[in-house]
Order: sequence, then C-alpha cells, then structure tokens
Amino acid sequence: MAKKKAGKLVRRSCGAMAAHMMLLERYPAFRAAQMRLEGTTERRTQMRFDAAKAKLVTIKTVVNVVYKTPEQNISDAQINSQIAALNKDYRAANPDRNQTPTPWKGLVSDVRMEFKLAKVTRTKTTKSSFTSDDLVKKASTGGIAPFQPKTYLNLWVCPLGGGLLGYAQFPGGPQATDGVVINYLAFGTIGTAQAPFNKGRTATHEIGHYFNLRHIWGDTPDCSGSDMVADTPNCAGANFGTPTWPHITCNNGPNGDMFMNYMDYTDDPAMFMFTTQQVLRMRTALDSARSGLA
Ligand SMILES: [Zn+2]
Repeated sequence: MAKKKAGKLVRRSCGAMAAHMMLLERYPAFRAAQMRLEGTTERRTQMRFDAAKAKLVTIKTVVNVVYKTPEQNISDAQINSQIAALNKDYRAANPDRNQTPTPWKGLVSDVRMEFKLAKVTRTKTTKSSFTSDDLVKKASTGGIAPFQPKTYLNLWVCPLGGGLLGYAQFPGGPQATDGVVINYLAFGTIGTAQAPFNKGRTATHEIGHYFNLRHIWGDTPDCSGSDMVADTPNCAGANFGTPTWPHITCNNGPNGDMFMNYMDYTDDPAMFMFTTQQVLRMRTALDSARSGLA
C-alpha cells in the first residue's frame, strides 16, 4: 500500500484570525489603529467612494524564503509564478472569473494593484515547521525580520505545521511582524505547490487580510458574524473544496453563499473574485494604514 505523503494539505486553513486576536490582546495601539481604519472605511462607504477610479498602484514585494530542506528552498521561477498569479487576481484579469454566477457577475472588481518582486531573501533554518506565532519573522527564532515593512509587502514562504496554508497581519499592527506567511506547499503555481492549492490563491486570500478583508462568513459558527462588507451575502460558515452553487445558509437564498470569493475557504480552482465593497475596503487600507506602500 502506498504511504500517504506527510504534510498533504487536505483543505484550506488560515491562521490570520488567530494571529489577529493575539495581536489585539497584546497591542492596545493596534486595536486603536484598527478602529480608526474601520471608521475611515465606514465614512468612505457612506460617501460612495468609487474604488474603480482609484489609481493603479504597484506594490513592491519582498519574498523571504525560510527553509530546512533543499526542497523548501523554492526556485525563483516558483516565486515568479506567484507574482504572476497575484497580478491576474488583483486586476480581475484571471480567466476563471467568468465562472462567477450570473447574479454576481457585476460585482467582480479590479483591485487595481500590481505586485513587483523587489527582493528575495533565503534563510536556512533548523526548524522543521512554523505556525501562526510569528517566529518565522525573527532571526533569533529561526526566521528573518521583514525588510522595510512600511514600504514593502513582505511575504515569508516556509513549512507551516498543523495543515495551515498561511496567515497575515491586518493593517495597523507592529512593524516587526508585518506581512504575510505562506506554506511552501501552497505558494505559486509550480514546483512544490500542491493541488488543489497550486493556483496561488493562498497568497491572494492572505494579502486580502493584509489589506483588511475578513473571511466572508464573519468568523462565527452561525449567522451572527459579519465581514463588514455589504455586497457579500451573510452566510453561516466556511465552505471547503469545490461546492456546487447555490449553497444556501442564513436565509441567503436564492443565491446563497458567495463561496467563489477569495475570502472563503474553498480550493484554489473554486475561488476567483473580490467584490466592489471588498475593493473599497482594501483601497481604504492602502490609502491610510498602509499608505507607505503606494
Ligand atoms: Zn483567511
């Protein structure tokens, strides 16, 4: 009998909210920054800010590869494949957006962000895997510190334990840990990227958090949670795999959950859109808490 490959990723699992709750507890200034940003977002929503007219920005991106085995020291080509995937998804230029169900086609929105690889760092570690505790972001704990995180988006690519695909820090947090961490098995579209997480969508999802997007079900195990975005239907919980449309929860019929949204937990081939209000939220984060990037 064939032995199951160790570390096989079965379904999406993101550590962003766990990391977020920890940071809110530990840094009162982060809590205040998040509240300010929420206020700014609310005002822009009321003013009907048109994010479709926002200027095209290029996000300078640093990729920090942290590896123990040679396999984990992913190739430049694999890194470039991730940047290419982001440049499709964040411009709504991904061909699979055409699979968006008809009632929501008009919501599919261009974030008007492009990503340019500015620098790659490679760090050999003795650690077999990391988790959402930020140890990968410090040299003394087997990782590497971010490079100028006010002006560069930092991505760390490393082995993550517990089936975690990635996690991100929301805007307004400490500089020393600012950025996005992605499992090397779910990064880019070639090399070590494993199906069904080999279309680069873990980074698309996590960078969504980095620009202040929440999971579309609002991170509660019922209908009470909200992603603070008006044009994503209220839904009960995460969707996994490749669901069949419609999947109705929380009286959200006839169209049901927007599980093809990048901020759900579906597999890479099953997610392919951000909405207009999500883009407003991201652009507000870019213009305020993350203005150093632009
Ligand atoms: Zn997430």
